[in-house]
Amino acid sequence: MQEFATIIIDFDSTLVQVESLEDLADIALANADDRLERVQSIADLTNQAMTGTMGFDEALARRIPLLGARREHLTELVEVLKQKYTPSLLRNTAWFRANSERLYVVSGGFREFIVPVMEPLGFKPENIFANTFIFDDAGNITAADTANFLSQDDGKTKLLRHLNLPKPRLIIGDGFSDYQLRASGECEAFYVLTENINRSEVVKRADRVLASFDELLG
Ligand SMILES: [Mg+2]
Repeated sequence: MQEFATIIIDFDSTLVQVESLEDLADIALANADDRLERVQSIADLTNQAMTGTMGFDEALARRIPLLGARREHLTELVEVLKQKYTPSLLRNTAWFRANSERLYVVSGGFREFIVPVMEPLGFKPENIFANTFIFDDAGNITAADTANFLSQDDGKTKLLRHLNLPKPRLIIGDGFSDYQLRASGECEAFYVLTENINRSEVVKRADRVLASFDELLG
């Protein structure tokens, strides 16, 4: 791992075991009559974005209204996600802390919950890049800020081009948007993590398949 000056890691289904917007939907829709249908629709949209059959921007814009989420739901979400760290991340926290300067989180998820979930493990808030929510005056989440590169299709590539981080750069993730960083040349290597989910469309495009973070660090 010493050869990489920059290591970029995805959040959903990589640093945590789940897709956080699905967990946010579970919390926000706990009492909704159409809860199951809406959670399923959100999961379907996530899968389409992660396998590359729908643009990330469209999938994100369509998921947020389905969530029905409010500011106070985020506090609960952070506590839920802290129980769902990827097991091999927790086994290797000393390494992640020791390498925090060159570790970046780049996610299509949202800063409002990723920072409080990852900061306790030593990830630097200034190295965490993610979307940001827009709230109305009543505290309802109404949209993602579309000025943020990460809300856009191939947004990770756009962000990395802007950041111009030191080379060589490795991206570790589970989804199509992670592979896009390698395809665009903004990362020199793409390792797919299959510990939480195995998407064959993504795995076949990876330079290396990691069953867990243990393989990376061992
Ligand atoms: Mg992911």
